Amino acid sequence: MANSRYEYVRNRELPDPLLPNAYFVVRIDGRGFHKFSKHYDFAKPNDLNALNLLNAAATAVMRQLPDIVLGYGVSDEYSFLFRRRTELFDRRASKIVTTVVSTFTAAYTFLWPQYFPDRPLVAEMLPTFDGRAVVYCTKKEIRDYFSWRQVDCHINNLYNTTFHALMDKGGMSNTDAEARLSGTVAADKNEILFSQFGINYNNEPEIFKKGNVAFRDLKKLVEGEEQPENLKLEDMNLDKEFSSKNAKAKARRRIQKAEIVVQHVDIIQDYFWNERAPWILA
Ligand code: ATP
Ligand code: ATP
Ligand code: MG
Ligand code: MG
Ligand code: MG
Ligand code: MG
Repeated sequence: MANSRYEYVRNRELPDPLLPNAYFVVRIDGRGFHKFSKHYDFAKPNDLNALNLLNAAATAVMRQLPDIVLGYGVSDEYSFLFRRRTELFDRRASKIVTTVVSTFTAAYTFLWPQYFPDRPLVAEMLPTFDGRAVVYCTKKEIRDYFSWRQVDCHINNLYNTTFHALMDKGGMSNTDAEARLSGTVAADKNEILFSQFGINYNNEPEIFKKGNVAFRDLKKLVEGEEQPENLKLEDMNLDKEFSSKNAKAKARRRIQKAEIVVQHVDIIQDYFWNERAPWILA
């Protein structure tokens, strides 16, 4: 662009870089999804199609943004962990957050008809999402962040499962069910489910209890790719020092060709981080 006397306004844009060399998570959350889910008649408490759509949109985001190394989603939210040294958009927070949000929203909207073929979106009730980026300096904080979200999933799901059992199977009103659960702890809810409705909470689907963990399965490459030999998983972290440029380029290619999977597994204990996906926090 040619210089003009108006150009000074550009200087009013303030830099908003995320702390260099630190982890950060972008979390998106649906706006007014309580209402949205009623409008489109989501199954309560858990609509499986809606979760599958959420996962499909998250997978699309991760395909577009290879520096995202982990996603965790539940209800109308998804958290995306970026690799520590990413230089995406010079780490400008607003560029990163808005790109994640709009990529997610675009995919969610585009894919909607595949998951809700009989319920077309209407202009008055389109899905929209907010987003924020939060910096975490240590691996412990990252582990604690994802533990926080997964515990939240568990607490909400146990509550919602019991709440809806009291209403749908127990014939209670909304208000009575709420009153019945007020002040109860997890053990009480498990007991209500079991003794009143014969439901063993442990047997509820993992997707509802544990939420959705999205990551590149480096052992599972997209179709047509050769299974790599002697793959040392903990070395497949692009933030690590590589022996050579060639080794790094090879790792990058492998990561690009890995299939993005969504699993409903525990991410509070060590197993996922140490054995299943050790490169994520290597
Ligand atoms: P806000 O705009 O502040 O985020 P919200 O209405 O989206 O408000 P949330 O706390 O984000 O409130 O909760 C999302 C709500 O969306 C849930 O409480 C639930 O009612 C509904 N919801 C989201 N996903 C599903 C699903 N898969 N099945 C059934 N209901 C869902
Ligand atoms: P970035 O991701 O950095 O924004 P970009 O490719 O979007 O990269 P911009 O500087 O935003 O680059 O420029 C947008 C480009 O999109 C224009 O240079 C032009 O090539 C194209 N474009 C946008 N709108 C139109 C339009 N209405 N008709 C034709 N071309 C368009
Ligand atoms: Mg919110
Ligand atoms: Mg919401
Ligand atoms: Mg929410
Ligand atoms: Mg542009």
